[in-house]
This record gives sequence, structure tokens and C-alpha cells, in this order.
Amino acid sequence: MKSIVLASGNPGKKAEIEQLLASFGTRVVTQAELGITEAEEPYENFFENALAKARHAAFATRLPALADDSGLCVDALGGAPGVHSARFAGEPKSDARNNEKLLAEMSPHDDRSAHYVCVLVLMRGPGDTQPLVAQAEWHGEIARAPRGRGGFGYDPYFLVPALGKTAAELAPEEKNRISHRGQALAKLLEMLKSQ
Ligand code: IMP
Repeated sequence: MKSIVLASGNPGKKAEIEQLLASFGTRVVTQAELGITEAEEPYENFFENALAKARHAAFATRLPALADDSGLCVDALGGAPGVHSARFAGEPKSDARNNEKLLAEMSPHDDRSAHYVCVLVLMRGPGDTQPLVAQAEWHGEIARAPRGRGGFGYDPYFLVPALGKTAAELAPEEKNRISHRGQALAKLLEMLKSQ
């Protein structure tokens, strides 16, 4: 695949997926760059939202479309913000306000465990009768103070205990090697290779 459209306008996701696909010579264009509006994400699970996004982008562009539906699930918050991660603090989407709300809601909790989830759906075109689906989790803890300037979203608060660093303190290639998105994409590429 020479070009794929990423069914998202999120620059953080684009940068990571672009880097992960760089060795395949695949060009990643976001649907926002092609003037395609965002799909509705009405579902309460990552898979259905990812499928809706991939379908929307594939039909609008006639190109292979990759959708990523992802989020942060915090145990002490009963899995929140989960599928609502992008808009945890409401409209308009804001990483800063989301992180502020996360920190406030976590203040009474000692159990800081959390994980990121990423579900990827690839439709090789609008007529793809067998979209590929891959998903992965990345486990960590919610830090009490932000650290690091890399990544995006909740990364300054997502502590990886084995490394003693937050996701925002990891080099991009280090995050991609172990993250929910990196692992899900590795699985998707294995599926493509085996076909
Ligand atoms: P989506 O665009 O509806 O899939 O929402 C994804 C949201 O989940 C992002 O806006 C972030 O808030 C959060 N998220 C997903 N993956 C990451 C990540 O790798 N780092 C930080 N936040 C993430």
C-alpha cells in the first residue's frame, strides 16, 4: 500500500503511525488533510468506533483506510475515561483539561493502575469484505505529577513502572516499540504479511 488515509485528524496518532510504517514506504495522509469530516463515534466500545471510522474514511476517499480508536482506562475510575478519552473534559477536545480532570478524579485514590487500549481497523478499500482488526493494551499507572514533553494526550501522566518513566519521557521509537498502538500495528502487519 503506497498511501493510506488515517481516519483521524489527531497529529499525535499520525506521527506515531507514520513512523511505524516508514520502513514500508507507505505514505500516511489524515482524513482532515483530505478535507474529510470526522465520523460519528457513537458506540461504547473501541471496536465499533474504529470500524465506523474506517468505513467512513474508505467510502469518502476510495483509498485504503486505517482507523485507530484508542483511550485510557483507569481501574479506580471504573475504566473511565475509556472510549470517551478524547473528550473526557467535554468540548472542545483539550488534552490539558482532560489531564486536569484526570488528576482531580484520581486524588482520593491509592490504586493508580491504568492501561491504554488501541483497536486498529484496516479497510483496504470501500469494498473490503474482510476488514482487518488488531488490538493491544499497554499497562501502567497514573502519576501524581506530569513528567516529560513527548507523546500526546495523557502521556505525561502515564507512568511505565518497569522503566520508571512516563510515556511522555520516552523517545518516539521507544514508545512505539512498547505502546498499545505500536503493538496493535505490529499485529496488523503480521496479518497482512500472512495473507
Ligand atoms: P479517539 O481519537 O476517539 O480514538 O480518542 C483517542 C484519545 O485517547 C486521545 O485523544 C487521547 O486522549 C487518548 N489516547 C489514545 N492513545 C494515546 C496515547 O498514545 N497517548 C496519550 N493519550 C492517548
